[in-house]
Order: sequence, then structure tokens, then C-alpha cells
Amino acid sequence: MELIRLSAAETAARIAARDVSAVEVAQAHLDRIDAIDDRVHAFLHVDRDGALDQARRVDEGEISGPLAGVPLALKDVIVARGMPATAGSRILEGWHPPYDATIVERMRAAGIVVLGKTNMDEFAMGSSTEHSAYGPTHNPWDLSRTPGGSGGGSSAAVASYEAPLGIGTDTGGSIRQPAAVTGTVGAKPTYGGVSRYGLIAFSSSLDQAGPCARTVLDAALLHAVIAGHDPRDSTSIDSPVPDVVSAARSAEISGLRIGVVTQFKGDGYQAGVLAKFDEAVATLEKMGAEIVEVSCPHFDYALAAYYLIAPSEASSNLARYDAMRYGLRVGDDGTASAEDVMAVTRDAGFGDEVKRRVILGTYALSAGYYDAYYGQAQKVRTLIAQDFASAFGQADVLVSPTTPTTAFPLGERLDDPLAMYLADLCTIPSNLYGGPALSVPCGLSPDDGLPVGFQVMAPVQADERMYRVAAAVEAALGTDRLLEQAPAL
Ligand code: GLN
Repeated sequence: MELIRLSAAETAARIAARDVSAVEVAQAHLDRIDAIDDRVHAFLHVDRDGALDQARRVDEGEISGPLAGVPLALKDVIVARGMPATAGSRILEGWHPPYDATIVERMRAAGIVVLGKTNMDEFAMGSSTEHSAYGPTHNPWDLSRTPGGSGGGSSAAVASYEAPLGIGTDTGGSIRQPAAVTGTVGAKPTYGGVSRYGLIAFSSSLDQAGPCARTVLDAALLHAVIAGHDPRDSTSIDSPVPDVVSAARSAEISGLRIGVVTQFKGDGYQAGVLAKFDEAVATLEKMGAEIVEVSCPHFDYALAAYYLIAPSEASSNLARYDAMRYGLRVGDDGTASAEDVMAVTRDAGFGDEVKRRVILGTYALSAGYYDAYYGQAQKVRTLIAQDFASAFGQADVLVSPTTPTTAFPLGERLDDPLAMYLADLCTIPSNLYGGPALSVPCGLSPDDGLPVGFQVMAPVQADERMYRVAAAVEAALGTDRLLEQAPAL
């Protein structure tokens, strides 16, 4: 079998057995990127020398472990020494971070080979990767469609066999939604379960890095490498990491109570998506799970609350791009004031979606409107957390389609921000609550032949449960081989 088609677990096993060298594996993926990335555009930067150096260290026996030698595609919102970091924005063009994010440090120590940085919506704001300042990424299933967003680059890289693993970040769905529409697995760990140190901030109370992969087990193996307490992140959880790897190896779900969220169906949901979702639920029931319907009435307000809270935090976080500290500086002719240079730089450096959010967030936080908008949104956030708490009294996990539709055509929603925001209807509640959630493929939609994602949501710190259920879906439906049905690139 071609090296690029192996899972991460198989790749690591073959390297450990010295069947193949880590350098050969890295080279095979670099060759793949050279061959197809002009069409997919998953990568913004490829670090050939850095990747081959790290692979050599694995081959020389300096580093070992369950993922040693496995290549990975890193979303460009995570900083890594030796590589630029743009977060998909012009304003960071030319900036080279002087340090490694905690998760990058951990991945390097585990022998993972970072191939380069992947494309994304600017500052992770978007659901299609079309808001990147560097041009869109294309969905490997159909190059005229988006790979989802904001982390479309990492998911497209994994789906097109440019890398077996990827890192994404999920503020409102940006790991799970791209996973769903590219036929891959994407997991958002419990908020605080994976360090945010070195993650370029969008909305700090929601941002969470996590794994992208082609199999549930691979996602769990990567989760185990990056998770765990970090004193450099004040929101990091200081308790043992849930045993996600054992859970992913066991597809045992008999007796588990699976709650189907009643709010996630109806108008706006593609018929083929609902059909595939229902089939997956029926399969879980046959495997011995108990299916219950649960109602989470405040989920209907999650999108509205999110689009006040996330822009509010973004307006504050993005104030640091002041033309002095990072990257781009425009209009500094020696006579212009610092304020003018800042204004001209921010105008030139930020794209329309980022500006829209900064203005919206500034407005929502302004005196006189704070209570009416931001304050209300925070109350809704509490009600959503209460919905989760009561739902988890009736069910061990909750399930839904990951996205209301399959991959949409490039350009279709670009001029309609609300249509774009609707892609995250089902994913946002878990971010507002802080619990883990994952998307696993559950087949191809009968109406357009494109992948459908099945979302599993679990209580805070019960990440292992979502892996167990996802592994059951994958095993029963054989979706670890779904990508074999993608039209060859
Ligand atoms: N699509 C959502 C947004 O634009 C979520 C983004 C994300 O998770 N980073 O805010």
C-alpha cells in the first residue's frame, strides 16, 4: 500500500518496525504536496527542511512513541518556531513567531513531523476558508466546493492524503465542520483540556485546538499527545487526561444512552444529511445502545449568542494588531502619527469579515449596549449550559448531524454572512458550554454523493465517551475507508 494512504497508527507501527524510515514517509508526503497542492491549496507554507530533520531524528532513535515519524499539517493559527504564522491574514504577513506553542512542543517531543502550515479563514472567522487573505482551499471531493472552515486547510490536507494528521482549532465548529464536509474525523476536546498557549487568539473563552485525522483512533492518539495541563495557559485543566485512546480502540456501546437532540432537524437541513444521520442512529441502536430523544430548547439561540460573544472577544483580542508589534506596517512615512499608521495598517491588513466582527464586537461591548447585547448573550450561554446539564441527566452522549448540509460551492455564501454562519448551527452549543464534541463520517449523502458528518457531544471532561461512540459508528459503517470513494486527485 502506498505510504500516504496508511493511517497514522499504521505509519508509526511501520516506522517503529523499521519497515520504512520516517524520512521516506516524510518525503512521500512532501512529494504528494508538490503533486497536488496547486489544486487543493491546503498549505500556506511547507517546511521541507524542518520536516526532514525531524524525521531523521526519529530514524536515528532519538525520539520514539506511538506517533513518532507521523507527518502532520498544522493550522496557521498555531505558532511554531522556524515557520511563519499568518492566521490567514495580511496583517501578520512576514511575522516569524519566536516560540513554539505548547502543543507544538509536545508534538515535536513525540516525534511528530510537522510538514507545514495550513490555510484558514482569516483569524479563524468563517466556515469555508474563503476568508483567507491567501485564496481559498478546495474540497478534495469536488474542487469547486469549499472544504469548510475555518480550518479547511488542515482537513483538506488530511482528506487528500497530504498528511495523515492535522491540527485545527474550534471556536464555533472549525474542526468539526471541515471534518464533516471532507469526510474526515475532527475532535474538539473539552475546553481547557488542550493548552491554548501559542494559539493566536480569536475568542479566548471558546477557542480550543484539537486533532484532525482519517480514523477515530488516529484522532485519539493525537489528542493524547497534545492534551494535559499547561501552567502557561490559565484556563488549562489540572487533572488527568481522559483515556481517549482506550475508548477509541473499544467500540463497546451496549447499554449506553444516546440522546438525539430534537432541535437539530427540520427546515434548512438537507434531506440526504438527515437520512444518513438517522441510519447511523439506527445502527447504534442495533449495536445495543439505548436511543432517547432529548430537547435542548435554548440551542435555538446558540448561534445568536455566539455571534455576540465571539465578535466581542475578537474585538478585544485583535486590538493588539497595532502596526507596531507584529507584521504589516503601512503609511509610516516618518511624518504620520502613530494613530494614523495604525488606522491605515488595520484597514489594509484586515479583510471584510474581520472588520465586520471587530465593529460588531465593539458595538456590543459599548456602554449603553453592553447589557442589551453582550450581557444577554452571556445569560443565554448559561441557559445552554443548563440544557446540556439536564440532557446529560437523560443521556450519556448527545448526537446530531455535524452540519445542516454537505459541502457548498465556492462563492455560494460569500456575500451572505448569515448563510455562512448557519453552517455552524449544530456545532456552536458545545463551544458555549465547553464540552467535547467530535465529527465522524457516517456515509455519503444520497442526494449529492458528498460526505456527511455525525456529531457526538459529551459532558465536560468525558472526552473518552465521544471517541467510544465515534469508533462504534466508524466500525459499523466502515467509514474509515470512506475517502477511498473520493474521486482521485
Ligand atoms: N464559523 C465560525 C465563525 O466564523 C466558527 C469559527 C471557528 O470555529 N474558528 O466564527
